[in-house]
Amino acid sequence: MGAPLRIEPVGGLGQMGHHHMVVDNGPDSFLVDCGILFPPPSDPGIDRILPSFEPALQRAKEGRLRGLLLTHGHLDHLGAVPDLLAALPGLPVYATPWTMTLLRRRFDRDAPKGSAPLERRLVHPGETITVGETELTWLRVTHSLPEACSLAMRGPGGTVVHSGDFRMQVDPLLGPPTDAAGLKAIGDGGVDLALVDSTSGAKPGRTLPERDVVARLTEVAEKATGAVIVTTFSSHVERMLGCLQVARATGRRFAIYGRSAEETARAAIEAGLLPVRSGELLSIDAIEETPKSKLLVLVTGSQGEWRAPLARIARGEDSRLTLGKGDMVIWSARVIPGGERTVGGLVNRFAEAGVTVVPPWGEGSHGLHTSGHGHSDEVGEWLDLVQPRFVLPIHGEPWHLIQHQSALARRVGPERLLSLRTGQTLELDVSTDVVTHGEAKTTQQWVAYGGAVFPARDPALSTRRKAGQSGAATVVVPWRDGRVAGTPVVHALGLVAVVETSSLERRLGLTMHRKLSLWDPIDDEGEASEKARLTLRSIVRREVGSKPPCLARLLHLDGMVSYAELDAHQPDGTRDGANGNPTSEGQDPPE
Ligand SMILES: [Zn+2]
Ligand SMILES: [Zn+2]
Repeated sequence: MGAPLRIEPVGGLGQMGHHHMVVDNGPDSFLVDCGILFPPPSDPGIDRILPSFEPALQRAKEGRLRGLLLTHGHLDHLGAVPDLLAALPGLPVYATPWTMTLLRRRFDRDAPKGSAPLERRLVHPGETITVGETELTWLRVTHSLPEACSLAMRGPGGTVVHSGDFRMQVDPLLGPPTDAAGLKAIGDGGVDLALVDSTSGAKPGRTLPERDVVARLTEVAEKATGAVIVTTFSSHVERMLGCLQVARATGRRFAIYGRSAEETARAAIEAGLLPVRSGELLSIDAIEETPKSKLLVLVTGSQGEWRAPLARIARGEDSRLTLGKGDMVIWSARVIPGGERTVGGLVNRFAEAGVTVVPPWGEGSHGLHTSGHGHSDEVGEWLDLVQPRFVLPIHGEPWHLIQHQSALARRVGPERLLSLRTGQTLELDVSTDVVTHGEAKTTQQWVAYGGAVFPARDPALSTRRKAGQSGAATVVVPWRDGRVAGTPVVHALGLVAVVETSSLERRLGLTMHRKLSLWDPIDDEGEASEKARLTLRSIVRREVGSKPPCLARLLHLDGMVSYAELDAHQPDGTRDGANGNPTSEGQDPPE
């Protein structure tokens, strides 16, 4: 037997998001998924958190990286691919057509200008291909978007099956059910290791079928006399079809409102994934001419995203839809933890306007949404088909993984159960069944709006956080022959009300001048500018009472500038497990 099977999770085992894993199988290395983690609200101006690309770059340097394999199209599984490909141009990406469609859209949004074209390798569910010495099979599972797959990798190091995100819907509303026969065939061939989705694996029983959600939505919508608005995740094509069926059942016209959901619907209809009769989907421009009592609109922005249509409608700022008495807003989505206040704000606005609201909590919300992640009976069914010799829970925060670990221990026995976190590695020698654990060096990367990338723990992140909390101050000190040579110019950003800012800046400048004039000449300009920075910090603190990040520059009267850096902040440590709100319309939460 050759090299063992080696598993290195780079993200997603201990955090809900940025799923990314290296699987070394004999001479072949593969990356499975490459997603983003949504930043917590405490990280101002950060768009997305990426996994480290170091392990991938290292495999590429060794000449053994064969490609990136995608299980499905949610952003926590493919949102970081454009960034990865900027670091590894030309890396082949293997995905099903729908996943590739979603990746293309992400690529258009995030890929840096001049990026190499996507090296697309389309595979179809049920198809087996050989890459290097490894046979790869994508096996259809049900989830909360089309063409989600489990992934089997049979190579010289052994056979490993990655579950992807899945549930086992028996009779889905849309698309075929999980490919049980395919999974069983792989299982019958012998599976050494299964990596299994833990997100809801510890919950008892099974998830509510999508058909039950449609029935419940219909029951609730029937009570409305005016317009019915349903809000859900923009990638959830099956729920779109569900809403269309509710519209049919209640004699309403159906429309979709929100750029990302409209794009998804258009592409899904084109791909034959969303069965809509001709003329059945009402254009958003036509909703104003339709009587409200004949209208059901799927609207994006279920997490309260400021720019999304739902929030605009709630604020009364939408040009197409104004809601009032008789109208109804139904949440057919869960709230991402941490987003309750934002969503609560919308619920209150609608309620004040006389709209009947069914919020995503409380008894009324029951049955209006269902998860795409299987509960324990469904995980059990998947494992019965795959019949692995060893099982490793993946995907989820520590709580999910630990809970799932104990549920699985009862099912498969502790001797077959492995445990791993991001930053650790696991090797399985399938000829001896010896399992070896190791550590790997993995870290995260933060990406700001606009595209600047910060390595995790970079002091700039802490400066950004502090500036977000308390503003910032800068000073430019005119300088000649080691002395202050004029009144320093202070800028105060967000320290006091705008009308008071100029007079504060003038006062601070004069105080700086008085203090700096008392100094003996300083030849070392680094020392001088650092001293100026500390002086600014102390007078700002006295004047305003806060401690914002401060910055000082010496401006030589011959035109040269000397630089002193910002406060050398200590790193804040990792922010693993942080799971905040999606930050803009069109970004689905981790699923
Ligand atoms: Zn996921
Ligand atoms: Zn997913």
